[in-house]
Amino acid sequence: MSNSFDVIIIGEGVAGLTAAGLLAQKGLSTASFEQQLFGGLVLNVNELDPAPAGGEAGGAAFASEMTGANADAGVTSIPEEVTALAAADGGFTVTTAANRYHARQVIVASGAKLKTLGVPGEVEFEGRGVSKCADCDGPMFQNETVAVVGGGDSALQEANVLTHYCGKVLLIHRGSAFRAQPRFVEQVKANPKIEVRFGSSVEAILGGQVVEKIRIKTAAGSEELAVAGVFAYIGLEPNAAFVPDSVKRDATGRLLTADTLETALPGLWAVGAVRSGCGGSLDDAMADARRAAEAVAARLQ
Ligand code: NAP
Repeated sequence: MSNSFDVIIIGEGVAGLTAAGLLAQKGLSTASFEQQLFGGLVLNVNELDPAPAGGEAGGAAFASEMTGANADAGVTSIPEEVTALAAADGGFTVTTAANRYHARQVIVASGAKLKTLGVPGEVEFEGRGVSKCADCDGPMFQNETVAVVGGGDSALQEANVLTHYCGKVLLIHRGSAFRAQPRFVEQVKANPKIEVRFGSSVEAILGGQVVEKIRIKTAAGSEELAVAGVFAYIGLEPNAAFVPDSVKRDATGRLLTADTLETALPGLWAVGAVRSGCGGSLDDAMADARRAAEAVAARLQ
């Protein structure tokens, strides 16, 4: 395999997969890099809501379908973590632990990961009650009480998912109102298994071998609540550590681009959740990818 490509796409979430497929279809030699499993954040979603137009409703099936189509289109998928990226020889050098690669243009589609609470017990109980995936781990909490933390789309959507398995879901939100889409708020309100605790912050996750309770802080003081599981959905942080400092970030660490989606480094583009200003939906990420792919192809052809 050659280590040199017309275009390298960093990340095989839906944005990266979309961009890579389009560029390969246009006849450009294209490689996509992924450090974990293809699919990114949608991999943990059993039922995408809304379902992607013309695609599978299950996140893993949707990503798998795109990955298969990309292989057919000629995309080289490289399962290595990108550790550095630098402008070189009129293009870019992409470095992984194992190899160095070169591309004329690079699209950063490395997405974002779930933020953590940063409270005592969160790391210690990971996999022993602390989970990042409602769809995967929900069945382990049959008829038990679990806590979901957050007040956005993810927290409300996943709280609803967990009620398929759990006896009760405590939805712990620091604010006094949700910032989620109205339909998710209505679902939560209508779900008798969900108990909402506004104005509450998790201070600690406690237990022995497994999670047994959380301590929350409210205006009235501290309170302990018995739970078997804790799911924090408190927003996302971008995966951009490998991007050179010369590419400016916003206050949340997301990459700044021009309206064209090109960063200040000519030939380096950013799409999806890693980009400042990208909306949070699947459609937003895929729309970014299509725009950048068109612009990159126009630049190279
Ligand atoms: P988000 O919209 O950023 O919401 C994060 C929530 O967590 C907010 O309610 C925030 O509270 C709370 N929070 C933040 N830091 C906290 C902390 N340290 N401790 C306690 N609470 C904290 O994140 P998200 O829900 O993961 O959504 C991310 C993006 O994906 C959004 O654009 C969303 O629309 C999108 N999304 C879409 C769908 C869908 O369309 N089906 C599903 C999931 C996500 P405050 O409100 O007080 O700031």
